[in-house]
Amino acid sequence: MNRVNLYALELEQLRDLVSELGEKPFRARQIRDWMYGQRVEKLADMHNLPGATIARLAEVAALGELELAAQQVSRDGTIKRVYRLSDGQLIESVLMPYADGRMTACISSQAGCAMGCVFCATGQMGFSRNLQATEIFEQAMLFARELATRGERLSNVVFMGMGEPFHNYEASLAAVRMLQQRLGIGARHITISTVGLAPQIRRFADEGLQVKLAVSLHKSDDAQRSQLLPVNRRWDIAALLDACRYYCARTNRRISFEWAAIAGENDTADEARRLGRLLQGLNCHVNIIPLNLTGGYTGIPADSRHIEAFQAALRSFGVGSTVRVRRGIDIAAGCGQLKTTLLLPQARAGSTIPAMPNGVNSQP
Ligand code: SAH
Ligand code: SF4
Repeated sequence: MNRVNLYALELEQLRDLVSELGEKPFRARQIRDWMYGQRVEKLADMHNLPGATIARLAEVAALGELELAAQQVSRDGTIKRVYRLSDGQLIESVLMPYADGRMTACISSQAGCAMGCVFCATGQMGFSRNLQATEIFEQAMLFARELATRGERLSNVVFMGMGEPFHNYEASLAAVRMLQQRLGIGARHITISTVGLAPQIRRFADEGLQVKLAVSLHKSDDAQRSQLLPVNRRWDIAALLDACRYYCARTNRRISFEWAAIAGENDTADEARRLGRLLQGLNCHVNIIPLNLTGGYTGIPADSRHIEAFQAALRSFGVGSTVRVRRGIDIAAGCGQLKTTLLLPQARAGSTIPAMPNGVNSQP
């Protein structure tokens, strides 16, 4: 029999479940506290519940459904994990510790991706299915729980793992609410990154959330952007930027544009000027990520000299930019490198987050 995932239940539904088991309704609140206050790993750790209650609960319910299949740790402290979902699908999540104490989880919203961006390993593997909200949430929950055991806190969550969050809009937004309500992560510490689904950007603007928005732009010319990001054939740059302007006007928030800098492809001064003209006057910032290598694409990262000139040209249009430090490259945990082939060493049973290398793991 399939057991119900307790993370999928709201308090009311949990009350119904405990009543069906012949338990008093107040048990539901106790269970919730163990789940999200104490963040216990197992039902058996819910110490103020009678043993018989735990046994009855364990027959019909389980605490989460992600199974850790593999884990790798980068020299820079970045952790990449592969999880097996209940139907056997594999997804990846990444945890990045920063020197200033921030701990950022990068989570997946889909198994694979249907958007087919040519430089992205997830795009190269194709689309398997949408994740449910609980499957998205649980990736962050597991990091948060393990960090808590050593007195640390998951501070930020970015939807920049596998998949296009706005192609799985409802579940992604439901997961955002779970992150806020159950893990206490403030909206301003959550970022959704989209390849540019214009209608969903507008819808997102109307939600009235403080969640940050990042848009993967990568090219300032329609024909060339369509080559790299097929989604551009559906919503071209003009349609995308219209939606972005709507977002800025509606929310008063700044947009981040992501730019995977590829040598000779989108790192020239011409490109920077065209981009500058496009973004001039918009409340935005450009995040430049030197391309990470993937098996199915021959492009190479732009070098720092080109990137500096690119930034200077952007600046002349009043457009600010930052070069993002690449993380987890030695374990293929960087942006766009996630694809689940399970060539990773098998994780040890009960594996937890290892201590970070010196200097990376600073206590908040
Ligand atoms: N689907 C969403 C979020 C996941 S991808 C999106 O595309 O925005 C997260 C970021 O990594 C995106 O900005 C994406 O364009 C970028 N990316 C993909 N492949 C990359 C690569 N090989 N090198 C650097 N960045 C890459
Ligand atoms: Fe999908 Fe984003 Fe990769 Fe494009 S870059 S294929 S949208 S995950």
